[in-house]
Amino acid sequence: MAQLSDDCFAFGGALLGVDAALALITARITPVVDEEGVPLSQAAGRILARDIVAQMDVPPHANSAVDGFALAHADLLPDRETILPFAGRVAAGHPLGRAARPGEAIRIFTGAPMPEGTDTVMMQEDCVVERGRVRVKPGIRQGANRRHAGEDVAAGEVALPAGHRLKPADLGLAAALGNDSLPVFRRLRAALLSTGDEVGEPGTRLMPGMIYDANRVMLAALLRAQGCIVTDLGICPDRPSALAGTLEAAAAGHDLIVTSGGVSTGEEDHVRAAIEKLGRLDFWRLAIKPGRPVALGQIKSGQGKGVPLIGLPGNPVAAALTFAILARPLILRLAGAVISPPLTFPVQAGFSYRKKAGRREYLRATLTREGGAVVARKYPKDGAGILSSIVQSDGFAILDESLSDLEVGGMIDFLPFSEVFGS
Ligand code: AMP
Ligand code: MG
Repeated sequence: MAQLSDDCFAFGGALLGVDAALALITARITPVVDEEGVPLSQAAGRILARDIVAQMDVPPHANSAVDGFALAHADLLPDRETILPFAGRVAAGHPLGRAARPGEAIRIFTGAPMPEGTDTVMMQEDCVVERGRVRVKPGIRQGANRRHAGEDVAAGEVALPAGHRLKPADLGLAAALGNDSLPVFRRLRAALLSTGDEVGEPGTRLMPGMIYDANRVMLAALLRAQGCIVTDLGICPDRPSALAGTLEAAAAGHDLIVTSGGVSTGEEDHVRAAIEKLGRLDFWRLAIKPGRPVALGQIKSGQGKGVPLIGLPGNPVAAALTFAILARPLILRLAGAVISPPLTFPVQAGFSYRKKAGRREYLRATLTREGGAVVARKYPKDGAGILSSIVQSDGFAILDESLSDLEVGGMIDFLPFSEVFGS
């Protein structure tokens, strides 16, 4: 008997779990690993192709962490003030040029090399300076305010590992080691298209029954944030031949194809059939909400190699979520990055919720601090087309496969948008 249901997941058949889909991505995606050198100033967001081994210590010499007086700790009286004569002066960039004499203090400034024979720096605020002499309080620890050579990175250490996506601090460290360029993998070339006869270009006049393309500009920005060079292939009509032709052409000059819409089971959904015709389908239905219809496959290119295609759902929230959860790790893997799962943290649910066990749900939520707890407030509307739910939230509240009844106050994992939508 036909069953009426308002649950679009009522459709039968086994669905692949999110973790299984991620494992499949790791197994099936072969990284594109062409190497190129880039100047340090251009390296942010790129993926390091080789380990960067420190050729020198950072810092290169022991130096002072404060402005004050460098001295030998052994010269200090343990229980009383010590009075030491001071002669020399070392500023940053100007070594003393001789060793300190026993019993002598040296005026020193932050970053200046520690003179040989000294091991401790007394902060100037803790000293009384008299004519040519300095009075030093007792009780300072040996080595206080001294930075060791190589305490950040020692020569020979791996400072930055291959596969690491370079962030601003990484560039700072590479510079501190003297690098002016870095070996990185070349950027991925991604082809992007929307599908749907109803989908129109913003800035043009909409015909009756049409909507503007919300996905393409969003996905292009997400792809660029992941370091891709994006070819915009526009909007493809719901015609099997047009779609197949576009995908086949796209496979020729790209490392990755990203589509949105047309992956479901409707008569106007042609992406899956096109993948099966032009290559191989790995999966197309996941136990995830929103975003169940999401396809991964490979399109054979002229050179015989398979170009990965990820077919994201048409609903904009589902497209953004499946980009975050599936396309992003796929892109990182393809680009040669070592992937670590995005950072999540436990929060208290500020809402109750019932769901089907067996699928993972990602609700849009805002975080608030209530008493000592961080509480997630669910965006009131759940629909996969409600893009405002992302615009007005902080991240995804993740409801695991095993969960079916969430009570107010229950602990859930929270995935901040910044982890998956940022660069
Ligand atoms: P589909 O997966 O093609 O059945 O699309 C699912 C829903 O998403 C439909 O309501 C579509 O109109 C809508 N949709 C598809 N593509 C887009 C797009 N590029 N921008 C906004 N909405 C879209
Ligand atoms: Mg469609």
